[in-house]
Amino acid sequence: MKVTEHIKQANGKTLFSFEVIPPKKGMNIQDLYNNIDPLMEFNPPFIDVTTSREEFVFIDKGNGLLEKRITRMRPGTVGICASIMHKYKVDAIPHLLCGGFTKEETEYVLVDCHYLGIDNVVALRGDARKDEPYFVPTQGGNAYAIDLVRQIANLNKGRHLHDNDEEDHHYDFCVGVAGYPEKHMEAPSLTTDLKRLKEKVDAGADYVVTQMFFDNQKYFDFVKKAQEIGITVPIIPGIKPIAVKRHLQLLPQVFKIDLPQELIEAVEGCKDNKAVRQVGIEFAIAQSKELKAAGVPFLHYYSMGKSDNIKAIASALF
Ligand code: FAD
Repeated sequence: MKVTEHIKQANGKTLFSFEVIPPKKGMNIQDLYNNIDPLMEFNPPFIDVTTSREEFVFIDKGNGLLEKRITRMRPGTVGICASIMHKYKVDAIPHLLCGGFTKEETEYVLVDCHYLGIDNVVALRGDARKDEPYFVPTQGGNAYAIDLVRQIANLNKGRHLHDNDEEDHHYDFCVGVAGYPEKHMEAPSLTTDLKRLKEKVDAGADYVVTQMFFDNQKYFDFVKKAQEIGITVPIIPGIKPIAVKRHLQLLPQVFKIDLPQELIEAVEGCKDNKAVRQVGIEFAIAQSKELKAAGVPFLHYYSMGKSDNIKAIASALF
């Protein structure tokens, strides 16, 4: 079922959802299930599955030379979605990236999604590859998320890439896109970034999921500004509980977000990461309660592969 239909059916009730990361290549999928299992009692209508960008590895040729090869550390997004749907009977949503995929490859992934009965996809540009200072579009791939949204919108109209005719049988994907309450790191201003978001919605996006944020006021202001420029689709807040002391540096560095002073001081006062995890849980519960009271459609949690803290938070809310 589409995310937008889940929201309609909930009739104003806030729902629970979360994001998982595919296991590293060679790991057992049971590890993923072990983290999903404890969260199923909170009835998530959907689970998001991320996609990671390709990376370079250097293979030792044994003759003193190294060969540069491309690899994916966490492949299997669509396969994992299929197995989640099969095992848990909930919707699973693959994240699709512009980076690392040609438009043809993307079309084939979407064909697979269609055959598997996947109703939703999240369309993202992806970050720069680790060896590149900024995002460089893949040759033959989409440059911005909006191009990917357009490709999906075309398929929804029965238009494949290289066919001239519209086909009678068309797809019907519900499309999510990313939004940034504290603006995307490359955007010159929040206003410009919001305009870009509006363009994605106008191109066919049905809902927005936000980057993590720790100050609810930033989310409320973002939603208000988005509505003022005519973005009327649901904006789902993304929540990440702080779990280790290093997050104080890592999260602002990677995601270009601010942390509230009270949270920083509470984490700094912790004697170990067990205590930090508890601080993160308590902060996320308070944050989630306020968002729920404001009537958000979903509380969407970034699990980062570990679910004990998400379970503790969900237990206080659902
Ligand atoms: P875009 O919407 O394309 O925007 C990227 C930048 O370009 C923005 O600064 C925007 O303002 C600007 N821009 C947009 N259109 C134009 C234009 N026409 N001309 C000039 N500038 C423009 N990353 C992963 O690798 N895998 C994942 O699974 C993943 N999941 C995510 C889930 C969520 C909910 C979020 C919020 C992020 C996720 N990301 C993921 C990270 C995401 O890929 C990065 O934040 C990426 O840098 C931007 O992606 P985007 O889709 O927002 O890009």
